[in-house]
This record gives sequence, structure tokens and C-alpha cells, in this order.
Amino acid sequence: MKFKDLSVFFQKVESASKRLEMTAILAELFQQLDSEERQRINEIIYLSQGQLLPAFRNVEFGMSEKLIHKAIAEATGRSHDDIGKAFRSLGDYGEVTQQLSGSGAGKLEVTEVYERLSELSKFSGEGTVKKKVEFLAVLLREVSPLGAKYVVRIILGKLRLGVGDPTVLDALSLAYSKSKQLRPALERAYNLCSDLGLVADILFSKGIKAVEEFKVIVGCPIRVALAARLSSAEEIIDKIGVCAVEAKYDGFRCQVHKKGDEVQIFSRNLENTTSMFPEIESAARKQIKIKNAIFEGEALAYDPQTKECLAFQETVQRKRKYDIDIMQKRFPLKLFIFDLLFAGDDLTRISYEQRRKVLSGLLRKGDVLEISPVTIAHSAGELADVFEEAIAAGREGIVAKRLDSPYQAGGRNFNWIKLKRSYSGTLNDTIDCVIVGYFFGKGLRSSFGIGSLLACVYDQNEQRYKTIAKIGSGLSEEDLKQFKKKLDEMKIKSQPKEVDSLIQPDVWLTPKFVVEVQADEITRSPVHTCGKKAEGEPGFALRFPRTVSGIRIDKNSEDATTVDEISKIFSMQGRRT
Ligand code: ATP
Repeated sequence: MKFKDLSVFFQKVESASKRLEMTAILAELFQQLDSEERQRINEIIYLSQGQLLPAFRNVEFGMSEKLIHKAIAEATGRSHDDIGKAFRSLGDYGEVTQQLSGSGAGKLEVTEVYERLSELSKFSGEGTVKKKVEFLAVLLREVSPLGAKYVVRIILGKLRLGVGDPTVLDALSLAYSKSKQLRPALERAYNLCSDLGLVADILFSKGIKAVEEFKVIVGCPIRVALAARLSSAEEIIDKIGVCAVEAKYDGFRCQVHKKGDEVQIFSRNLENTTSMFPEIESAARKQIKIKNAIFEGEALAYDPQTKECLAFQETVQRKRKYDIDIMQKRFPLKLFIFDLLFAGDDLTRISYEQRRKVLSGLLRKGDVLEISPVTIAHSAGELADVFEEAIAAGREGIVAKRLDSPYQAGGRNFNWIKLKRSYSGTLNDTIDCVIVGYFFGKGLRSSFGIGSLLACVYDQNEQRYKTIAKIGSGLSEEDLKQFKKKLDEMKIKSQPKEVDSLIQPDVWLTPKFVVEVQADEITRSPVHTCGKKAEGEPGFALRFPRTVSGIRIDKNSEDATTVDEISKIFSMQGRRT
């Protein structure tokens, strides 16, 4: 397939507004591939997501808008002024390239473009900047104008086709079997490897049976299991009966993959964070008795003198790319391991109880890795006791776990239930919101460029973002200035199709950044689309919302609180009042 033809598919997807439509277009694309092209379907999948490899492989082009600007000038022969003018009017370097490109031969195959982009991402050493600009200029001249638009957007990390992972999975199923019935099997495999390209590749090269039998691979992060919430010990016991109870540590989640001496650490949103936590990396080599393993835990900083665990605000200082040595001395980490997903074989299908049994014999003594203690609670009273102990020890609460539950990769359900102290009383639990726009504001605030933020939660069923609040408090002047700089990276001209909003902010943003928001309660409101089922019916809104965190780097936009969760919290609130 020519890249020119793939670009036409991208354009169709981009202008489709309904999920069904996007699924059908992608399925048609996959069906059109001949058998040789299907061998390299992974490249098409990655490109359609604006990537060259799954996100956890950290491929970066390292080309700023300034360099893209130069490459466009070189490719099109147009002046910097012309390009600047076009950018000011179109607001997108992809469209600028398309508009200024000549007729563009468009002879390159998808594979050739993929390989050239891979090459571009690997340039290093002296004169890299110049080489990158020249290399890209040549590529832009050789693809069609529409193709050039998408090449530029991919390099800038702004492809924005608006296709979510579930849409790709549905499309693969449709293309392979003419129905969506394969989606659960495909989804399961995807949750176990976080690599859509790999799943597509296995489906088309080995068939659905191989997908169904897919097992975890050390080195490919597993999409994390998540906890649902309830508001009391009684509710938990009513829901899951006798259960395991662990302290809920307030640090950051680490999924550690050990393959011989090679260790990789992945974060809550599957970023490779190995270089940030050298002590966990070396402890995994020393303390884990077996050769190959995948385990999960929560990392907490502790005071080296008192050996006491520290608060989240201190722990989070370890999430940085620089000064790692200094921070490691100031805030050494302990990792409280709470699950084992691979020990020579895939353990995700066996029960929590069995996984913990294997885990209990896995560790040598050491300073960094520790297994998180478990208590079996037979009654609400016993569960409440563990909860009180955890709070007294400075933990955030507890996580109750169903004894017979498999590890549900990528799922939030009642296999794990979190109970935090703050759940009793008013709405003290925070909501993770995605910022989709901002308002300039009036008076003093307008001088910072942002008065308030338009915030959404995620509707998993529709794969769209629904508004829930306009947030004007919580950010200091300094925060506002910093925020604006960061948010403006996501600025776009019009309402993104994945955002469902009745409100029009002054500036629209591609949904990406997540912030933690505190509110007094959830109310019904006609102006927000979260939970709005039909025209004229109210949605949900946050009452007195204020931000309590900067941008949460450990969460992707799809990891924001969901509409379903808001609806559950709303009904829990109802029970309390
Ligand atoms: P979530 O990760 O569920 O989207 P969140 O990031 O806001 O939400 P919480 O709701 O506070 O976090 O709780 C879930 C997180 O708690 C897990 O992702 C994990 O990092 C952490 N955690 C701490 N202790 C445990 C434990 N013993 N078992 C499982 N998870 C734990």
C-alpha cells in the first residue's frame, strides 16, 4: 500500500464523527492489505496512533515546531514569512505543509515511510539537527501533500485521528471475522502486552487461536488492574465476602519486569521509568530469587535516619529525569510488592490467593523490596480493624481483594476495592479530570492568560470526554503561568471531536493533561454533559471544584475518572445524606 492511500484513510477517519464509522473505515483499511502487507500490519497500526512503536518503547523524534518550520521551508522552497503566516491562519503545521506542498509524487510505500521515520528517530551525534531537517525535507517532498500533513503531525506527536484503542480492536475483529465477536479475546491480549501492533500481527499471522492463548511477555508492560471504590467496610464484605486486605500505600505504582539481569520498571500509565529508580532496579536483581518475573508494588520514599515512610509530596520528588543520585540519597525508596504476574510462567489467570502464595517465597532479604502484608478479613469488623491500623500507620486506607480473582489487566472492577479515610463525610475523594479548554478570565487573572479551566471525565462506553466542571480555584499565580505554557502545547482551533461539551471555552485543547480535582459534592446540572442521557436531562457537575495537583504525569487522558465512577460516587453520596 502506498503511504498516499493510507493518508486518504487517515483523512476519512479524521473527519468521521461516530465511532461506528471510524471502526468501519479502519476495518476496510485492514481488509485491503494483501498478504504481504498484512505481515507488517503492526506498522500501520502504530502510524494510525501517531507512533512508530508502542508508547512504552519511548520513541521520540526530538523535533520542535521550529525545526519542522525549517524543514517545511526547505521542502517547499517557501520563505519563513510565508510559513509563519500560514501557521498563524491554520494553527497546525500539518495543514501548513499540505497547503504549501506542490503536487508531491506520493510514490512511497507505507513501509518506506515507516522506515524513513524510524531512521529519523535514531539520528544522534554531531550535526543531528541539520541532518534531521534535511532528511525530513526530502521525505516531505516525496510523499503526497496529504501524506506530508500526516508525517508532520506524527513527528510533532499531534496526529489526532481520534481513534481509541477499543476502536482499533473492533476494527481488527471486523476485518478478520466480519463481526465484533473477537473483541474480548483481542482486548485480553492487548491488556496483557499493551501493544496493539503486536496483537494485530499475531491475529493476521497466526490466527485467533494464538490470540486467545496469548501470554504475558517479560518486557511488555501489562495494563494495570485498578480498584473500584466503596464507602464502608460493610459494603465491601457484602460485595465480596471474605477477602484479603492490604494497606493502601500512597506512592507511585511500579510494575517491575526482570529478565535475567535486565530489569525494566513501568509506571501506572506504562511509561518506562527504569532510569528514575536505580535502587529498585538493582534490588530486583539481588532480591528476586527467580530468573524471570513480573511483579507490582507501590514505591514510597522513606527517611534514611528514622526509616519512616514519607508522605506522597516527598515521594513524588523521585519522579524526575535529572539529579537522580542526589534525590536517591535524600529520598531512598522502598517498594511494597502487592502482586506477582509472572514467575517463569503467566500467573494472571490464577487466583490472587495462589499468586500471593508464589510471591511469599520469591524474595531474599534486602533493604528495598518488601512484600506488602495481608490480613484475611472474615467480617466487616475485622476489615474495619485493619483499616484503622493502616490509617494509624499513616497509610491512605486499604485495598480489599477478592481471594479467587485473577489479575484483571486493564480493568477496574470489584476484584479490588479501595477504601480511603476520606470517603466518609462529604466528597473528599479527588476526581481526576482532563483539561479540554480554558477561559481567559477577567480582571487580574486575565493577565496570566487563564482565568479558569474546562474539565472533563472520560466516558468509556462512548470513548469521549464529557464536561463536569469549570475550575477557577486551586491554582496560584505561578501555577497559572506554568499551566498555560504546558496547556498551550495542546491548543487546537476547534472543539476536538472526542469532546462532548455544551460550553465553549476561549481556547480548545486536545484532551491530554489530567489534574486532580477536589470538590464539595457532585450535583446535577443542565450545563454539563457528564452522565447526561438525553436532551433536556441534567448531567453531573462538581460543586466548588478546585485543583489539588499539577498535571498528573502518571495518568493518560483515558485514565481520568470515568462517567460510570461519577455516577457511582453520586449514588454513594445519596446514601450518606
Ligand atoms: P487509580 O490508580 O485506581 O486510577 P488513583 O491513581 O487515583 O486511581 P487510587 O484511587 O488512590 O489511585 O488507588 C489505586 C492505586 O493505589 C493503585 O493504582 C496503586 O498504585 C495504589 N496502591 C497502593 N497500595 C496498593 C495495594 N496494596 N494494592 C493495590 N494497589 C495499591
